Amino acid sequence: MEEILYKSTRSHQAPIKASEAILKGLSGDGGLFVPERIPALDVDLKTLSRMSYKEVAYEVMKLYLTDFTEAELRNCIDRAYDSKFDTEEIAPLTAAAGAYYLELFHGATIAFKDMALSILPHLMITSARKNQVKDDIVILTATSGDTGKAALAGFAGVEGTKIIVFYPKHGVSPIQEKQMVTQKGYNAYVVGITGNFDDAQTGVKKLFNDEELGKEMAAAGFRFSSANSINIGRLVPQIVYYVYAYTRLLAAGKAAEDEPINVVVPTGNFGNILAAFYAKNMGLPIRKLICASNENKVLYDFFAEGTYDRNREFVLTSSPSMDILISSNLERLIYRISGDDADKTAAFMAALGREGRYEITPEMRARLGDFYGGYATEKETAAAIKRIYDDCGYVIDTHTAVAASVYESYKARSKDETKTVIASTASPFKFTRSVMNAIDGNYDALDDFALADELSRLSGVAVPAAIEEIRTAPVLHTRVCGRDEMKDVVKEFLGLS
Ligand SMILES: *Cc1c(COP(=O)(O)O)cnc(C)c1O
Repeated sequence: MEEILYKSTRSHQAPIKASEAILKGLSGDGGLFVPERIPALDVDLKTLSRMSYKEVAYEVMKLYLTDFTEAELRNCIDRAYDSKFDTEEIAPLTAAAGAYYLELFHGATIAFKDMALSILPHLMITSARKNQVKDDIVILTATSGDTGKAALAGFAGVEGTKIIVFYPKHGVSPIQEKQMVTQKGYNAYVVGITGNFDDAQTGVKKLFNDEELGKEMAAAGFRFSSANSINIGRLVPQIVYYVYAYTRLLAAGKAAEDEPINVVVPTGNFGNILAAFYAKNMGLPIRKLICASNENKVLYDFFAEGTYDRNREFVLTSSPSMDILISSNLERLIYRISGDDADKTAAFMAALGREGRYEITPEMRARLGDFYGGYATEKETAAAIKRIYDDCGYVIDTHTAVAASVYESYKARSKDETKTVIASTASPFKFTRSVMNAIDGNYDALDDFALADELSRLSGVAVPAAIEEIRTAPVLHTRVCGRDEMKDVVKEFLGLS
């Protein structure tokens, strides 16, 4: 197997091994690590269609994590995709209302971040051992709701790690907040910030680049790493389920060999859809990558006009995990369509930091033909939930509904009848109130748990264990800070102040 090294999107520093990129998270120059080239699948789809999720995961991930031994990688996969998931399929594919829903919510926190965050701690610990790192790894994460709990669930109690999660105090759902603030584990710390997700993410990025803090930490035996979707240890496991989904269609006789499919992804930080783009570039027969945004439609505008512009009002929607104005992972696509030009990418990102916008060149725009950008309003999102429920009794969450709505309008406009997989990124039980209100708005008097019982009755699906557990769990984290206090909070938690 050919070795794949990772380079930064923003400079010409010497490329590093996968395990080093996983440990570092973000490049020292502020750039994101990208593989020097995207490897091709080396097992045919027919053979993959006879494999389990774990086996497919190995066949995909081995191509990217080339400095992991087979035993190391298989061990990480075995520890991640076990009984934490409520089905052995790990990511089942459900046909409903004219599309295939790839259910990425069967893990510990019933949302798709579990797919990568259940394996990341193991990839990190393995990477640390391989690189003789003796420091404790401090995971610093900004979350718009789901990443936080999924990272906490992955890292809590993992020896040699600490995890600090910042979330927008008024920007996550009540169930999301309850999931985080009830987190157990001596090594876990959860803090609300008085700001939105972008404030939290910008603050975290600043801390990563704070040299003075880095030195203080090193002296005390700590080093930062990132569990955010910028870490290639997050990106690579996400490629797996697109390959898996395709091979399940093949196995079920729903797709002919090499028949192209479309993929629709409800998008925020651009991590999930970037993984689908990588899968396509590995040789998976994907025709269109349909990028679905909510009313924070910065990506829709980008695909329509070639200008990325975050200077706009931030809208709080019923799909909070997509309420994002800076889609960090887009940088990897920008790098690619610039022809792997680090100087150009760095200049765009500098403009984004300075002016909040940048405009790509016509040549770059011409390379975006694989993508279709769409968005759904709040009304359209709710209507999609109701339509699909009325149509076949299948209940989807608000994020997935953004994708379903965008897919519906794409199909009406394009007449494209290609078989389509929609990434279903959260269980409807995670956003129960919005989901129930969309189906029929008569539930205002019920609390979130009573609502979950009602949704269970309506959908015929049992209330997931992740919800049952927090019904009675005590709140363990109450700290709230301003966005200027994040550094103090980190130092306090690490005993550095
Ligand atoms: C994080 C998240 C998204 C957005 O995924 P990105 O990789 O950030 O684009 C969509 N839906 C849910 C439920 C999420 O948690």
